[in-house]
Amino acid sequence: YHAKQQDNGVCPFTESMTRTLQRRRQLTERLNAALLHGRLELHYQPQVDLRHGELVGAEALCRWYDDEWGWVSPGEFIPLAEARGLIRPLGDWVLREAARQLAVWRQDGLILPGRLSINVSAQQFADPWLAQHVATLMQGVSASTIALELTESDFMRDPEQAVGITRALREAGYALAIDDFGTGYSSLAYLRRFAADALKIDISFVREMLDSRHDQAIVQTIIAMARALEMKTVAEGVETREQAEVLARLGCDQAQGFYFGRPLPAAAFCEAWGNAMQDTGPVTP
Ligand code: C2E
Ligand code: MG
Ligand code: MG
Ligand code: MG
Repeated sequence: YHAKQQDNGVCPFTESMTRTLQRRRQLTERLNAALLHGRLELHYQPQVDLRHGELVGAEALCRWYDDEWGWVSPGEFIPLAEARGLIRPLGDWVLREAARQLAVWRQDGLILPGRLSINVSAQQFADPWLAQHVATLMQGVSASTIALELTESDFMRDPEQAVGITRALREAGYALAIDDFGTGYSSLAYLRRFAADALKIDISFVREMLDSRHDQAIVQTIIAMARALEMKTVAEGVETREQAEVLARLGCDQAQGFYFGRPLPAAAFCEAWGNAMQDTGPVTP
């Protein structure tokens, strides 16, 4: 096989690079088409309180099914969208779709407890009018029901700008979470000034925590620091009861992960979690 390629004068390394580039170009075109024709979906993953296991929110996660390629992972298409100028239209679609879904649930008498978390990327976050932009795209949705997630490394790209935008979002009533925390080299001084509501402990620490004293120490330190800065902690990627128990013992507030529930399409999410979404109406004093 290789010999034949060398006969043609084609280096296999170059060929594989060409193939990668080709896939990226095709993916970009198809992602653009999927966006135009409404073929993206949002799935919803439950967030639970670690003390009593109750539903306290959900994270909206973008999904894309391509007829030929099957499910394409957001780990692949989000960075691509960021690199090819598609992340703003994609991000706008996510905000509009989340607002539409919340309205549908409301019509059905279903109210998500806590907040719906929505991921935003650095390019969206760089918009000084982000708060107004979100409000415009999510008309009819109260800011008090939404949290925006930005990764720690995205926060640190232009921390001064992030501080300003964070303030504006908080003043408008949105909550803010620092995603993938522990992987992005925040300075402690900035961490305080971001005034985020929550730190999401990166999945890598949760994964290693039971086998590695050091990872458990990092988790413990993140929780202590968050508490000192009056932020709550959300553990990502909790897959076992043992992990949940250790996190609860360490004082972690909330968790997300396959142990509690996978990301699900809206209808399946309701089937699984609808009981916790009943609109009990205003509580009479
Ligand atoms: P993230 O925001 O940190 O989301 C958490 C990821 O962990 C999700 O991956 C979720 O499916 C996965 N996960 C949840 N529980 C578990 C678990 O117990 N075990 C394991 N192994 N994984 C778990 P997903 O959906 O593939 O998304 C990957 C990343 O893509 C997200 O990481 C986020 O950074 C980005 N992303 C997804 N949707 C959007 C979006 O609408 N906008 C933007 N800007 N980024 C998005
Ligand atoms: Mg997230
Ligand atoms: Mg994360
Ligand atoms: Mg992530």
